[in-house]
Amino acid sequence: MGALGRVLAEPIVSRATIPPWPNSSMDGYALRAQDTRGEPVELAVVGRIIAGAMPSRPLKAGESMRIFTGAPLPEGADAVVPQEDVAADGDRVTIRGRIAAGAYVRPAGEDVRAGDVVVEPGRTIGAAEVGLLATLGYSQVRVHRRPRVAILSTGNELADLGMEPGPGQIPNTNTYSLMAQVVEAGADPVNLGVAPDQLEAITERVRWGFASADVLVSSAGVSVGELDLVRAALERSGAELHLWQVSMRPGKPITFGTREGRPVFGLPGNPVSAMVTFELFVRPALRRMVGADAIDRPRLRARALQPIANPGSRRGYLRVTLEETATGYGARLTGDQGSAILRSMVLADGLAIVPPDTTIAAGEPVDVIVLRSLEPRSR
Ligand code: AMP
Ligand code: MG
Repeated sequence: MGALGRVLAEPIVSRATIPPWPNSSMDGYALRAQDTRGEPVELAVVGRIIAGAMPSRPLKAGESMRIFTGAPLPEGADAVVPQEDVAADGDRVTIRGRIAAGAYVRPAGEDVRAGDVVVEPGRTIGAAEVGLLATLGYSQVRVHRRPRVAILSTGNELADLGMEPGPGQIPNTNTYSLMAQVVEAGADPVNLGVAPDQLEAITERVRWGFASADVLVSSAGVSVGELDLVRAALERSGAELHLWQVSMRPGKPITFGTREGRPVFGLPGNPVSAMVTFELFVRPALRRMVGADAIDRPRLRARALQPIANPGSRRGYLRVTLEETATGYGARLTGDQGSAILRSMVLADGLAIVPPDTTIAAGEPVDVIVLRSLEPRSR
């Protein structure tokens, strides 16, 4: 059970054939198909096999045995006729029609054969995998370690959870949305708290992060203002920065670097920008680090249910809801797309990808990154 939700690090090879013997899928009579003909035939009932016991002896020509669901077929038998299809009288049973070989028999190995790889490494273990592992006698399996991901929020204006925001302060959102995104990606978050906009303070937290985690993710302070000190702090703490700024909306100010092979992401401060850039840049990296075979979110092609406009020179990732229509999924904007409007993320089923300076007309197709399972909602 501890493996649920973890990513498998080894192939699961079946040690057994399941089911180990042919068995009945009905309560009825085990027989030899060749003993039945078009016209009624009477067979001797020479035994009784219940689930959990083996037949006492093989079946001979002209014989049948009473059998119950899941019980092993006797040697010589190759079919079962359900009890409701026969006339039974003491130790005789009358079979009316012709019974096909294999009828109501689950063959040995129909589920799994010994030596089969039944679950591939990289697969996230769900309830069905847990059941199969138990069936095969695995009480322990090797899974990938969850990478530790340190989350740092920066900004003089931030009042952390539990504090009443003072004059000019705002609540700290990003620490919590980003930690939750880390968990959803299958990794372990480490909370580095909030650092004020001071080079020394940020540098100190970043060093703490590198000492305690495999990945560092910061938010805010990565733009062009005089209080945007994150890049300098990352470099001071030994990170090499590989890029700065991506032409996208939301979320242009973003930096990525490494320190001794450990990735560091400086995400923008606006809550929507932080979440969207996490989705696009951090999540795939974490999925790879957790060993998962599924790296990317699913995408689908929807039809715009209204014009979806992306003015400006940056590629747009617009928050949309998805609805099932007669011709597949339709996409509708969640409303105002401001990058500080976190409610747009709460409402969003996905991100519609719209090229720069483009309006997708109603009825036209649009590619959508699906962010959540599309469960029917009761309204
Ligand atoms: P910055 O990039 O530092 O200028 O931040 C951009 C915007 O995001 C500003 O309005 C900040 O107040 C806001 N912001 C930064 N960090 C957070 C946070 N942790 N939670 C909520 N809003 C934030
Ligand atoms: Mg700031």
